[in-house]
Amino acid sequence: MLKLHDIHVYYGHVHALKGISLEIPQGKIISLLGANGAGKSTTLKMISRLIPPKQGSYDLESESMLKKTPSDLVKRGVIHCPENRRLFPLLTVEENLRIGSFTRKDKKVAADLEKVFAYFPRLKERLNQYAGTLSGGEQQMLAIARALMGNPKILLLDEPSLGLAPNIIRDIFQIIMRINEEGTMILLVEQNVHLALEISHYTYVLENGRIALEGESRHIKENDKIRQLYLGA
Ligand code: ATP
Repeated sequence: MLKLHDIHVYYGHVHALKGISLEIPQGKIISLLGANGAGKSTTLKMISRLIPPKQGSYDLESESMLKKTPSDLVKRGVIHCPENRRLFPLLTVEENLRIGSFTRKDKKVAADLEKVFAYFPRLKERLNQYAGTLSGGEQQMLAIARALMGNPKILLLDEPSLGLAPNIIRDIFQIIMRINEEGTMILLVEQNVHLALEISHYTYVLENGRIALEGESRHIKENDKIRQLYLGA
């Protein structure tokens, strides 16, 4: 279980997170919604410790993560799959995947490659292709696959549907659900509110650096403000 309490983050004078408290409980998919600039990506970057909080507490399995580095978080299984994928375009699919397992000392990397190919058979067919020449959907699959090679307990997914066609988005969301069913907790930042509410168990809605609304996704879906603002009702 991951727990943030009263987290504040600043970029210089910009107060980007103004007291965020949230939990990722065992076995769940949690979605984090909100308009552009609300603080969603900042929350993920704070969780993976790419940026420090100025105030607040952050515990993973009851241990404070405030003094940890990004690589400590990766070793504990908190893996960030960033917005815009951040692949290495001049490396092959296989090389990108192997980079995902770079920090691991265990010997299960080969088995995990096979597991990743079971989720994404298309990547197996393209092992020697440069990542930069893959389609948008394939690049997103590779970004998630690379994150899976880090053997995540908690996967932080930033906008996995960005720029993709609806049928590809549906495929990717099916795979996200499978990854969760097989034991990985997921924190999902998504502009596709409808799908995010569909697959997540619990939702936080960020507004201007604060949590404006939270609840079980099936209840948030019925909320009048959410229906008007995000679901076109
Ligand atoms: P989007 O959906 O557009 O990615 P977001 O909800 O992920 O938005 P963040 O990227 O977390 O929002 O940004 C939160 C706030 O922090 C915004 O006001 C943004 O301008 C500001 N911000 C983000 N990164 C920086 C930075 N490196 N320097 C200064 N301000 C920043």
